[in-house]
Amino acid sequence: MKAPVRNAKLYIDGKWVSDKESMPVIDKFTGETFANVPVASRETTERAIRAAHEAFPAWSRTPAHKRYKILSNVSRLLEERQEEIATIICREAGKAWKYSMGEVSRSIETYRFSAEEAKRIHGETVPMDASAAGEGRVGYWLRVPLGVVSAITPFNFPLNLVAHKVGPALAVGNTIVLKPASTTPLTAITLAEILEKAGAPAGVFNVVVGSGGTVGEWLTIDPRISKISFTGSPPVGEQIIRKAGLKKVTMELGNNSGTIIEPDADLSAAVPRCVMSSFANSGQVCISLQRLYVHKAIAKEFTKRFVEETKKLKVGNPLEKDCDVGPMIEEKDAIRAEAWVKEAVREGAKVLIGGKREGRVMQPTVLVNVRPEMKVMCQEAFAPLVSIYEYGTFEDAVRMVEDSPYGLQAGIYTNDLKKAMYAVDRINVGGVMINDTSIFRVDHMPYGGNKMSGLGREGVRFACEEMTSIKMVMIKP
Ligand code: NAP
Repeated sequence: MKAPVRNAKLYIDGKWVSDKESMPVIDKFTGETFANVPVASRETTERAIRAAHEAFPAWSRTPAHKRYKILSNVSRLLEERQEEIATIICREAGKAWKYSMGEVSRSIETYRFSAEEAKRIHGETVPMDASAAGEGRVGYWLRVPLGVVSAITPFNFPLNLVAHKVGPALAVGNTIVLKPASTTPLTAITLAEILEKAGAPAGVFNVVVGSGGTVGEWLTIDPRISKISFTGSPPVGEQIIRKAGLKKVTMELGNNSGTIIEPDADLSAAVPRCVMSSFANSGQVCISLQRLYVHKAIAKEFTKRFVEETKKLKVGNPLEKDCDVGPMIEEKDAIRAEAWVKEAVREGAKVLIGGKREGRVMQPTVLVNVRPEMKVMCQEAFAPLVSIYEYGTFEDAVRMVEDSPYGLQAGIYTNDLKKAMYAVDRINVGGVMINDTSIFRVDHMPYGGNKMSGLGREGVRFACEEMTSIKMVMIKP
């Protein structure tokens, strides 16, 4: 029997609210509507901002041990509902079951790290007498919360990328209004149930759903917002920065990640890891492996094994426990990915496997004979596409990885420390992964990009720093 369509509500000021309009939440594999969510009007969005603004004074003075307790509760409650939430992610984001379960596991940890950080955030003393004018004075600085944070988030990690904003914001004493991606609102609404049960006071955490052009913009321009924490595409990030005015911003944006495979790489480890890095979540990961630079001495062998490994992937229904690659978020994205492959082929590339789509499901695709100026190489694909490029010298490979308008993460397989350090020094990215691909991330490490990949850093401690300001105190006894 088909489950009834769920009618979800928004969560504002500790209450569950509807609005005049609503929109469907689509199962990305079957195409059926499995829930409806209200679309926040301007008045409803205004109510959420007001609630967060009014809740801030009390929340910012709530002792750290109480903030710790609430965030620990969130972590525990997520653990209790792991399978239910993974199913929601699977259906609304089209993410394969094992990766949906993995996302919930990571979020459990992200909230745990946030709880711990609530007890750790602190300032320092300043040796005032280092200046003659400071003699006889005592100085110290504090980290203080900013106020209301607006969190605008993408579809591809609807729980954990939200966790990277909600956890740190609440840990340091900010309140928050969250606008999830319109394609994946249900995970965020389920998180609100968890925050309510975890004991977050009314107004501290609010969720509004609606398009980027309306709700997203209202959450960008409102003067009561002190900080915008955005994860999404570079063009939207730029629009937000233009409209934000004098607000702190963190921008976690896109990438066309590269990884280098040197001849001394252990191929039995590198090949399966590179395949997973290219196709997990249908390549819709900001650090998904898109450009593979393989030394000519091993290119033939690597490519053969890479294609064999890709053939083993199970593509289709993300709810099946052994699925590797589910649908893309919208059919138009699969159409675009297929068109990019066709364009590359017209320009001389060769498809070794994949290249086709059925509805939203794009086959994992491996290209060779590519050139740096092809879209599949120089723009962010955000699709299950990877290009293999044969190189002659390590210096060339490093130069090509660096030759990108983006700068999020890169990977290098080598056991030669000198080469590894050469690459670390030359590639302008937020993170270099040695003996792994660009996709490696754990949730407490600093994470974020340079160039078009963004501004600021997340990773719990670093997000806490970005979500606070410094207050200097001087005492003249
Ligand atoms: P997106 O289209 O930029 O959307 C992200 C969020 O911004 C959504 O909530 C969207 O709302 C909202 N938005 C759209 N237009 C807006 C506007 N004018 N003002 C305010 N908000 C607006 O990105 P996406 O397609 O969801 O995600 C893919 C992108 O995110 C890729 O580029 C990927 O690399 C990047 N990403 C980066 C990271 C990272 O950590 N660096 C992580 C994950 C993803 P609607 O849904 O209503 O359009």
